[in-house]
Parts: sequence; structure tokens; C-alpha cells
Amino acid sequence: MPIYAYECARCGEAFETLVSSSNTDAPACPACGAAEVKRLLSAPTIGGGVKAATQRARSAAAKEGHFSNYKKSELKGKL
Ligand SMILES: [Zn+2]
Repeated sequence: MPIYAYECARCGEAFETLVSSSNTDAPACPACGAAEVKRLLSAPTIGGGVKAATQRARSAAAKEGHFSNYKKSELKGKL
């Protein structure tokens, strides 16, 4: 699942979230609960940047029991 960065239109809170392809609804702001959030087109720079976001996506994928976020070379020894 891709990670999208959002910014709340009401309070300005910036956050990022995993969005599944089956769910295209924008998430609610975690700070104020507003539904008026806009998706940021730039790569997420919150919480350590893209590397950290990738890491989170990978650990989430690992929890779900698949390794789609890993490169082929990284799968060696994991399966
Ligand atoms: Zn907000």
C-alpha cells in the first residue's frame, strides 16, 4: 500500500497514512478529526522522511504476512 501525506485544511496538522487501493477516501485529521484534508504531492517528510516511512510500510507488510515491499534480493533468507 502506498503511503500518502496529508495536511489538514482546518488545523494544519500534517500526517501520513497508508492508503489501500480499495479505499480512496481521504482519512480524517488525527489531531482535530476534520475530514477536510488535502493530499500532499511531495514525498512524506514527517517522522524521519521517506526512509522511515518505507521502513514502517515494510514492517506493516511483514505483520500482514507478505513481503511485497521488499526487493527480490532482500527476500533471500526471509522465505
Ligand atoms: Zn486537523
